Amino acid sequence: MTSVPELLRVGPAVDLKDIDPSSTPGLPGRRVTGKDPKGWAREQLGSLGVELARQQEMLFAAAKAAGDRRRLLLVLQAMDCGGKDGTIKKVAGAMNPLGLHIVGFGPPTEEELKHDFLWRIRRALPPAGLVGVFNRSHYEDVLVARVASLVPERVWRSRYWQINGFERELANEGFTLVKVMLHISYSEQRERLLERLTDPTKHWKYNPADVDARSRWTDYQAAYNDALSRCSTDHAPWYVVPADRKWYRDWAVANIVLEALKDMRLSYPEADFDLDAERRRLEADRAPAMAS
Ligand code: ATP
Ligand code: MG
Repeated sequence: MTSVPELLRVGPAVDLKDIDPSSTPGLPGRRVTGKDPKGWAREQLGSLGVELARQQEMLFAAAKAAGDRRRLLLVLQAMDCGGKDGTIKKVAGAMNPLGLHIVGFGPPTEEELKHDFLWRIRRALPPAGLVGVFNRSHYEDVLVARVASLVPERVWRSRYWQINGFERELANEGFTLVKVMLHISYSEQRERLLERLTDPTKHWKYNPADVDARSRWTDYQAAYNDALSRCSTDHAPWYVVPADRKWYRDWAVANIVLEALKDMRLSYPEADFDLDAERRRLEADRAPAMAS
């Protein structure tokens, strides 16, 4: 059976039009599980989370005890309301916060604009042993930068190969890169934006500028198609996750990250001290005389 990551990994000529945002590739049907798909996916997310936490601990331990330089970086991209925050809460949230390195990217600051577009990205990379998550990333520099004409065309055009070179460098340094685009439909985005207006506890999430970006939907989809097609490589693949159904989205991303961790063939490091001698030392241990 084809694995979920294999099903969602993009080829060299992606067209988001061909991917249904409400589809659920790889999700076993009711006939197989005997359960309602949503309930089943939510239940599975629990066990996937336990395994994610175990893999993350091995990654952390390998760096700490054995000097392993490896790390994983999950890059999340989506249109507004695409569900990046929810995915982080559900998937990264299953792991130990101590082993996570989560960074969000907004419009570059004055300081950041003085440097090349990868400068702030390099500074935000996770150290060895950690699972990094980027909420938006260097891909904004070929998405919003292109659609909103923040830089001339020749500048953003040259960025695809710069990104590929940069990600190759990271792979050589021990990064496992997992890039996920959460793919929502135009109508689902409208529902979610309306929900942010209706629910007073979500007003803080509403940004009128999101409606301006929405009016350039087709241009954004074209920019995504190019970024996904040009920058999905063996060492840094892109996955498109249909994301209209939140329960499928979380289940699929957990699967992708877990497979990537398993491919790292992690294991707990062996003790580099004499276990028996240490045990004897502790067994012979007596409580210190208390000062009176
Ligand atoms: P949501 O999906 O919930 O709307 P968000 O990711 O949009 O959340 P915000 O803090 O509202 O979070 O927005 C971040 C903004 O920063 C986005 O509009 C994004 O396009 C912008 N941004 C990120 N990187 C860049 C960049 N390199 N150049 C210009 N704008 C950028
Ligand atoms: Mg936004």
